[in-house]
Amino acid sequence: MHLKNLTQAPTSELINAFRAIVGSRHAITDAQAQKPYLTEWRDRYIGKTPIVLRPGNTDEVSQILRLANTNRIGVVPQGGNTGLVGGQIPFETGHEIILSTGRLNDIRNVDAVGRTLTVGAGMTLTEVQAKAQSMDCLFPLSLAAEGSCQIGGNLATNAGGVAVLAYGNTRQLVLGLEVVLADGRVWDGLRKLKKNNTGYDLRDLFVGSEGTLGVITAATLKLFPNPGEGATALVAMNTLGAAAALFRHVSEQSEDLLTAFEFFPHIALEFVTTHIANTRMPFSVPHPWYALINTSRSRADETSASNIEAVLGDAIDKAVITDAIIAKSTAQAHDLWRLREGISEAQKPEGGSIKHDISVPVDSIPSFVTRANNLIEKMCPGARPVPFGHFGDGNVHYNVSQPKGADKSTYLAQWEEISHAVHDLVVEMGGSISAEHGIGRMKRDELARLKSPVELELMRSIKTALDPNGILNPGKILARPTNT
Ligand code: FAD
Ligand code: ZN
Repeated sequence: MHLKNLTQAPTSELINAFRAIVGSRHAITDAQAQKPYLTEWRDRYIGKTPIVLRPGNTDEVSQILRLANTNRIGVVPQGGNTGLVGGQIPFETGHEIILSTGRLNDIRNVDAVGRTLTVGAGMTLTEVQAKAQSMDCLFPLSLAAEGSCQIGGNLATNAGGVAVLAYGNTRQLVLGLEVVLADGRVWDGLRKLKKNNTGYDLRDLFVGSEGTLGVITAATLKLFPNPGEGATALVAMNTLGAAAALFRHVSEQSEDLLTAFEFFPHIALEFVTTHIANTRMPFSVPHPWYALINTSRSRADETSASNIEAVLGDAIDKAVITDAIIAKSTAQAHDLWRLREGISEAQKPEGGSIKHDISVPVDSIPSFVTRANNLIEKMCPGARPVPFGHFGDGNVHYNVSQPKGADKSTYLAQWEEISHAVHDLVVEMGGSISAEHGIGRMKRDELARLKSPVELELMRSIKTALDPNGILNPGKILARPTNT
């Protein structure tokens, strides 16, 4: 395959032409004003760009891409900039322009009968959830970054979050897309159809493509009936094996929909109660493991607290779990969720953290954690594993905090070596090296190392077919092609 398509830096004339498309007010060249677009949440990547463009409609996006494609300029699509793998940050060369989607936030269609909502890609997830609520419906996607992340970014990363167990990833929540292709053509796939078997599924190709195949400008989303008041419980256990048994028990015994089954170890609780305001230890004595469970009724006029009480009482009688707290109010449920959602944040003051976002078959989680912890102890004695996440999805955020008192940069220098070992174990156990955050820049080389040659070749072919000049988010997911 001959790919002579390295992108280049835009001339000042081109920069002016890009600016003219969106208007000066929406084109950012000032270094200070660019800052929020160039650094990401974990401060792992700091990029450079000649210009940030904030188009106000699909036609402007189309004009930007047409100009970029003709002139071989790399374009980095950016939504809410909450991505955790550096996909939305341009490289340090300063050659790539940023296309920020925040102004594409119009509501295009509301359908209360078919329960769909069509919105611009720049709407934040919180705004989408609120719009659904105003229709007395539920848009179930929920994650800690929901106030900032945008629906376009959620789709581009096929985001997961805490409701996947009941409702699926973002992929399962979308019916149609509008996408601007690399050469500026617009694909109008904004269909509301639940059934559509007319050849290759282009929509699913763009979901999870992390800005490398097209720019998503709008989406038709699936809404659900508002569920009844849910029940939230925090459960204490001696082993992760007990979590597996409890997961099965609750799935089988609960009359309600199990919407979340999260897990975390005691060290996570220590970090959170030490570093996150307004949190405290929920039990009077420490327990090795905890599960946070959410259930909901399908009807808005029913509640599920009594049901979960019976199911967990039975689990205590059978010695599957050691203790449980069932939230008695929304405020108490919120407090329990804070313990889970504060874990990432609470790791920061504990020094360096080497992070993995992996999945394994659900029944393999206990053995994965044991084997991974043994590996870490051999490679970096004293390092503190904080494995937590979405037990019901097999998704473990296998984060490892530095040994107490260690030098942060010396510890983080081991990132690659430790990650290789953890990822090798994941692959051996039939898992995935990226369960929900994607590949971006951070895991690109690991993907190349661990995916089969056939899969990689198919992915490259798709990339070349949709973006022959390689202008869309170059160097993300796949390495840039060389011009040999
Ligand atoms: P960005 O970060 O701006 O972009 C992410 C990627 O998508 C980039 O590659 C970018 O180029 C591309 N992109 C963005 N918009 C478009 C578009 N319109 N068209 C084409 N490509 C586009 N993720 C989960 O899956 N589950 C979680 O539970 C979760 N929790 C998080 C908690 C916190 C505190 C934080 C900071 C992040 C979390 N994330 C989680 C990661 C992140 O929030 C999600 O990946 C989110 O979906 C990204 O949306 P965004 O709008 O911020 O996208
Ligand atoms: Zn997660």
